[in-house]
Amino acid sequence: MSPAVDLVGDLRETVGSAQVLTDPDLTIGYVRDWTGRWTGNTTAVVRPGSVEEVQRVVRICQEAGAPLVPQGGNTGLVGGSIPHRGEVLLSLRRLDWLRPIEHDTGSVIAGAGVTLGTLQAHARKEGLVYAVDLASRDSATVGGTIATNAGGAFVVSRGDTRRQVRGLEVVFADGSVVSTIETLPKVSTGPDLLQTMIGSEGTLGVITSARLHLSIPNGAEHMVMLIGADTLADGLRVMGPGLRAIEFFDRACLEAVMEHRGLVRPIQGDFPFYLLVETTGNLDLEESSPAVVDRSLWVYRESITETINGLGVPLKLDVALPFDRMDEFADAVRALDAPGAIFLYGHLAEGNFHVNTVGSPDPDRASEAILGLVVSMGGAIASEHGIGVAKTGWWRRTTDPGSIELARRVKEALDPNRILNPQVFWG
Ligand SMILES: Cc1cc2nc3c(=O)[nH]c(=O)nc-3n(C[C@H](O)[C@H](O)[C@H](O)COP(=O)(O)OP(=O)(O)OC[C@H]3O[C@@H](n4cnc5c(N)ncnc54)[C@H](O)[C@@H]3O)c2cc1C
Repeated sequence: MSPAVDLVGDLRETVGSAQVLTDPDLTIGYVRDWTGRWTGNTTAVVRPGSVEEVQRVVRICQEAGAPLVPQGGNTGLVGGSIPHRGEVLLSLRRLDWLRPIEHDTGSVIAGAGVTLGTLQAHARKEGLVYAVDLASRDSATVGGTIATNAGGAFVVSRGDTRRQVRGLEVVFADGSVVSTIETLPKVSTGPDLLQTMIGSEGTLGVITSARLHLSIPNGAEHMVMLIGADTLADGLRVMGPGLRAIEFFDRACLEAVMEHRGLVRPIQGDFPFYLLVETTGNLDLEESSPAVVDRSLWVYRESITETINGLGVPLKLDVALPFDRMDEFADAVRALDAPGAIFLYGHLAEGNFHVNTVGSPDPDRASEAILGLVVSMGGAIASEHGIGVAKTGWWRRTTDPGSIELARRVKEALDPNRILNPQVFWG
């Protein structure tokens, strides 16, 4: 960046001094990630309040050659939402407008800064549902969940974020804006190139708003059940019609959550794994299967991430395994040399595993060992949290060369000066 450029002064002039933060006491919440594993630094945190302001901020950064990192709720778990090398932090939280629900199209237009919790409450008031739900719902934003293609517990029945996006408004690295949010329910006039933004983790454009699909609840009575299981293979056999969610966690997760939240043991007996199942159907359980039914059981699953964070700075790896190798993988992780205390949980129906460890003497070595196991068993190194800065090397090593080359060409075309979140994917 040229020393003659007064970047912070230009940003203040554009969005107002109150919306540009440089005091480290004020910026710390924006430069430290949710897990506490990464703490970066920033030239300034900028909080635009309109699409036009986002455009002007991006242009200023482009002209100054100053990289920027888009940020929503900062609940991302792969270090992609914070500036690592002094980049400008572009907070989208003030883009929090929510238009009235359009019942005829079954959709709503939401600003990128609307939290999932607010969006869900808005839909619920009119008898509808926004399909994606995460335990981070009160902070995670529409923009962040689209940029990471967030999943969550209900992917098995309702699909991931990609399935909900009907249109997007995006500010590109040159400050131009493209929008498909004012669209008709069915349009097929060539490729929808804005779909490329889904899962792009802030590296291709800044999402400023979206048109999102809302679902009609099917109205059927559902039950929530906790089941003790000896293996994950036993859990997979439970899947059947009417399934809304099937989550698993291991004994270590349950013990830690009971301790942290002061909760009672929810089920008699002690098992290697527990399954939390939400279903409108009948489960094909053996008579002897230990199970308990209660809608408040979700707290045991939803408290896991927060509980583990309370035990120390965790190494968090989100991966996917072929169904028939999930138990073998769990055994192999537990047999690794000194990864620290291990916690295994995830979204069973997608083969999704959250492998969390706390207290490893060498987290980087533990990460290499665990991801190595995943790849050797035919799994995927990222299931729903994305690549961020945590897995860039593994992304390049495990993605086929044709796809990497295509990603490079798209990046080159949309962000030739690499000012958008430069440490993610390519850092
Ligand atoms: C308790 C807890 C539970 C979680 N459970 C799940 C889960 O079940 N499933 C799941 O998928 N994830 C889960 N997560 C991870 C996280 O909540 C998701 O990744 C979420 O989508 C991040 O949204 P955010 O608004 O916080 O984005 P941030 O963390 O702010 O950013 C994430 C990425 O998106 C980019 N970005 C953010 N906003 C924009 C924008 N407007 N335009 C362009 N790029 C942008 C950032 O640059 C960054 O690369 C969980 C996290 C926590 C803390």
